[in-house]
Amino acid sequence: MKIGIVGFQGDVEEHAQMLDIISEKRGEKIEVVRIRKMDDIKDLSGIIMPGGESTTIYKLIQEYGIYDEIIKAVKERGIPLMGTCAGIIIASGNTNDERVRGMGLLDIEIERNAYGRQHESFIEEVNIRGIGNFPAVFIRAPAIKSTGDVEILASLKDKAIMVRKDNVIGLTFHPELTDDTRVHEYFIGMIGGGGTISSGEHEMKVRS
Ligand code: GLN
Repeated sequence: MKIGIVGFQGDVEEHAQMLDIISEKRGEKIEVVRIRKMDDIKDLSGIIMPGGESTTIYKLIQEYGIYDEIIKAVKERGIPLMGTCAGIIIASGNTNDERVRGMGLLDIEIERNAYGRQHESFIEEVNIRGIGNFPAVFIRAPAIKSTGDVEILASLKDKAIMVRKDNVIGLTFHPELTDDTRVHEYFIGMIGGGGTISSGEHEMKVRS
């Protein structure tokens, strides 16, 4: 299995670490590729768009010709994609920000930076359908203002925070900043890797 992480800016290495941990735990190699050019997308089994700064990531994936290739891979080849934070902004149908044109992979409307500034970041225990309680890390997070044809997997104070449509999931928080691998395992399950989602106590590796 080969998973590509859009590799220009943001939580690229944190996602890679999560995949390495799962790989080791399962004794089954997950090859991790940092996507920086069109060619990197060719033979992937899954794509992760990380959190970071959506305007920067958007600009770079446009410049390097990756934007349309990702849409094609997901829509035409059915490759599973997970977008976290900045990643869900880019995957959305409407970002409400002309600097970032959403890919239209998830029928949701976004409000960027809806929970305040960096120092107003927070961690909240949330309940994710199919996973259970999970420590959700919100860093200058976007809000999902409205949802269309998507399944809501988790909400916080009446707002969706994790949604799925077929082979695409989006989260407004950062599972890669905890040591809890269950969201990544769920994603790998979407690829067809199967396996069970582990449970237990988990520590944060969140930085201030
Ligand atoms: N505020 C960022 C943006 O709009 C997203 C924050 C994040 O990914 N942690 O791009």
